[in-house]
Amino acid sequence: MKGNSMTSPETASPIPPVLPTYNRAPLAFVRGEGCWLEAEDGRRFLDLGSGIAVNALGHCAPELVEVLTEQARRLWHVSNVYRIPEQERLAALLVERTFADTVFFTNSGTETAELAIKMARKFHYENGQPERTAILSFEGAFHGRSTGAIAAAGSEKMVKGFGPLMPGFTTLPWNDAGAVRAAITPDTCAVIVEPIQGEGGIRPVPDALLQEIRALCDKTGTLLILDEVQCGMGRTGRLFAHEWKGVTPDIMMVAKGIGGGFPLGAVLATARAASGMTAGSHGSTYGGNPLGCAIGARLVEIVSDPAFLAEVSRKAALLRQGLEALVASHPAVFEEVRGEGLMLGLKCRLPNTDLAREGYAAGVLTVAAADNVLRLLPALNIPDADIAEALARLDRMAVAVAVPA
Ligand SMILES: *Cc1c(COP(=O)(O)O)cnc(C)c1O
Repeated sequence: MKGNSMTSPETASPIPPVLPTYNRAPLAFVRGEGCWLEAEDGRRFLDLGSGIAVNALGHCAPELVEVLTEQARRLWHVSNVYRIPEQERLAALLVERTFADTVFFTNSGTETAELAIKMARKFHYENGQPERTAILSFEGAFHGRSTGAIAAAGSEKMVKGFGPLMPGFTTLPWNDAGAVRAAITPDTCAVIVEPIQGEGGIRPVPDALLQEIRALCDKTGTLLILDEVQCGMGRTGRLFAHEWKGVTPDIMMVAKGIGGGFPLGAVLATARAASGMTAGSHGSTYGGNPLGCAIGARLVEIVSDPAFLAEVSRKAALLRQGLEALVASHPAVFEEVRGEGLMLGLKCRLPNTDLAREGYAAGVLTVAAADNVLRLLPALNIPDADIAEALARLDRMAVAVAVPA
């Protein structure tokens, strides 16, 4: 038994049973359906965060519940020492619909960063350039929370106290073509970049800069890793955000939306970039399990349908138009709308966390990001009526925050 707080209060544990690494909102949900969440006390909230771009088809999407329960009755987990037909099916779908020749499955976005880094370094190692280990990333980036992923992002907030960091990473300033030109050399291993920064505040990399990065990578033999964990899986109206930008990666990280709420991630790569990854070089106990892959395959089938993606773009235009009007009518609260497709951000003039809190009172859930931005990442199939309701509730939120309580 642990210390008795009755007799020695000074030894009572000051830490709650759940490790307090989050500043949690005082909300707990018991049910979800589509874009709506119901709290313990019965209040209903319109969810524009979707678990941070995770619930791509909304909460408890019937198509996914069906495949989940069907698969759960048949087979949950087997080791990767066996063939896994559901995994093969999902990999084949992704290979058919993207630049990639091959796929490795993970349970999270962080794990995709780990493999992307390992794959890039192994590529040069096997190509007789083992000294090519330097990886370039960008200020404001987020690639996950492992020691490798925080080294890649390099932000003070994430790395402080966790050193020594994995060596070999250099963080370049945001949107600075000159810095990119100076940094990418024949000694560089890889460049890792989010086509649209999520945690960094919904910041798209300008197309011309991404194209220049690709050209510099080609010239120097550097591998381009795109982190589409947040901006991928249909969020911008194409299956992956880079499809708009005239650029293809060598390696791509995918997670969040691909499982629709089931923990699933994937590293997609060209045959060339993946050529160093031979049997025994990487693995995962849960990665690519039958349950996750059955769900992922259904989700990819639905989301990659051109008619579905056209609907995402139509809904995105509707939401954006409403948000532009919202910003125009609350100039003291908001500065601008930014982002692409259904990956949108409201750049705020008042503290974004105050706005998010007023949102709870108005029954609408958003997600704060860096750069004083509120993120809007609704389900890709959000009904038009919910878009209208969301705009009404965001307006209530803006009115409330502008009036000091
Ligand atoms: C969320 C996120 C990650 C990390 O994913 P986890 O599943 O939380 O490990 C990596 N990259 C980007 C761009 C993300 O948004």
